Amino acid sequence: MPVTAIDRRGLTQMLIFVADEIVRREADLNALDAAVGDGDHGITMRIGFEAIRDRLAELDPATPIDTILRESGTAFLGATGGAIGVVMGKMLMAGGKALQGVEEIGAPEFRLLLTSMETSVATTGKVKPGDRTILDAIHGAAAAATSDSGAKDLAAIVDLSASAAEEAARNTADMLCRVGRASRLGNRVLGHPDPGATSFAIILRTMRDWITSRSAPDTQP
Ligand SMILES: [Mg+2]
Repeated sequence: MPVTAIDRRGLTQMLIFVADEIVRREADLNALDAAVGDGDHGITMRIGFEAIRDRLAELDPATPIDTILRESGTAFLGATGGAIGVVMGKMLMAGGKALQGVEEIGAPEFRLLLTSMETSVATTGKVKPGDRTILDAIHGAAAAATSDSGAKDLAAIVDLSASAAEEAARNTADMLCRVGRASRLGNRVLGHPDPGATSFAIILRTMRDWITSRSAPDTQP
């Protein structure tokens, strides 16, 4: 049976699965950032997701989905510094606000999650698509998720969004940076994908991997 919706327990497990993957990818993400910046993106993401993992471990199992997302955002924001810490933290908090009272994340809620995150990042970061930031990946993912409004299968929509985010992240390699510290680097950023956009694509791809693993017939009685 494919997973058609994620409940509070599933969301917690999925976030931990994503956190474990981000922690594993720390060196890759640092290397990406070293090509265009100060090389600390992997460290920041690792610290943020470790804080999420710790916060989730403290939460009551009955904690609703919106609170899980808000608490994850607060944990990330509190543990990390820099622009990406604020952007990621507020993005997760905005996702929680958008899913207030929701019992399960199915396809419609996933679309709502992505669109609310896109709005949050655009507002918090004061960025637009094409500025070579994490927003490029989120925008690509949200556009892909909302373009196929007839699709009911959560796994298919998450897969579509992950692929779109990956493509958008790759495309940032052809963009000049107009915002933040990396804007001083000019042409030096060309050929290197934006680390934040790459991280977002990894998050979505790992969510898809978690959903797929849950859908396997021998793991889900
Ligand atoms: Mg950096």
